[in-house]
Amino acid sequence: MTTEQRTAGIHHVTAFVQDAQRTVDFYSGFLGLRMVKKTINFDAPEVYHLYFGNEGGSPGTIITFFPWKGSRHGRVGSGQVGITAYVVPTGAFEFWRERLNKFGVAYTEVTRFGEQYLQFEDPDGLRVEIVAREEGPLSKWTFGGVPADKAIKGFGGAVLFSGAPSKTGNVLEQVLGFELEREDGEYRRYRGTGDLGNKIDILLDPASAGNGVGGSGTVHHIAWRAKDDVDHVAYRSRALNNGMQPTPVIDRNYFNAIYFREPGGILFEIATDPPGFAHDESFETMGEKLMLPSWFEPHREAITAGLPPIEVRVLEADQS
Ligand code: ZN
Repeated sequence: MTTEQRTAGIHHVTAFVQDAQRTVDFYSGFLGLRMVKKTINFDAPEVYHLYFGNEGGSPGTIITFFPWKGSRHGRVGSGQVGITAYVVPTGAFEFWRERLNKFGVAYTEVTRFGEQYLQFEDPDGLRVEIVAREEGPLSKWTFGGVPADKAIKGFGGAVLFSGAPSKTGNVLEQVLGFELEREDGEYRRYRGTGDLGNKIDILLDPASAGNGVGGSGTVHHIAWRAKDDVDHVAYRSRALNNGMQPTPVIDRNYFNAIYFREPGGILFEIATDPPGFAHDESFETMGEKLMLPSWFEPHREAITAGLPPIEVRVLEADQS
């Protein structure tokens, strides 16, 4: 174990929503992300697990959803990831402001750490924001009305609504190797080593976020990047040594995972970069076919029949 072990930043974010097609329309149709994987909740095969990211679903770009019709509505608040930030190329900010207007998505503009953010909600109430930055490779994916030079590169970071901000900060520093950057008003910013998903802001007053309630429209967990299995196991030791109670390593097919709830109430995962999303289907067609783990394959027909049909489609406002 080395004290220099530092995470690049966010691996993925996972949230609950109600409606599968509505979610595809928002994240692919409106935000222009690629649906890189269509699979099911391995614990509840009647529910999709949908992954959206850049062209290859690189770590630091992936948001995943469990669309669960009729599930309880949550409330974004303390003990959760409050806001998920997407980063776009410098010069694309105005494009996104116009796009929000074109689609009638209500937004507010805020400044944090000297950066300008467009903040809005997805159809389930998940809080999302867009910031423009130099760093991070351009996305190679274009869809609908979003050209490549304006496309979302991946995550810029996240705002954590911790119930215990300084303890959460300690976990970011001591377990994950984030570096404290500085404070700005209500927020304290931490920095990972990557150029995506690397700026994590903690809201310093938990009361200002109100109580969080899990359910649709809220983030279930946030995952941090480990380089490989060796790195992963070392993070697990560090979590243990810092009083966390990490799960054993779980094989999630596209990465290995451990989970623990940090003292501020947020469910943290640490996930390995390899093997990634292209290992069980080709880069060209990923996301098109329903992918099932081997033990569900014999039940493909019944599983498919129970899932609502979904399609990635160009939205009406982009067709003219
Ligand atoms: Zn996860």
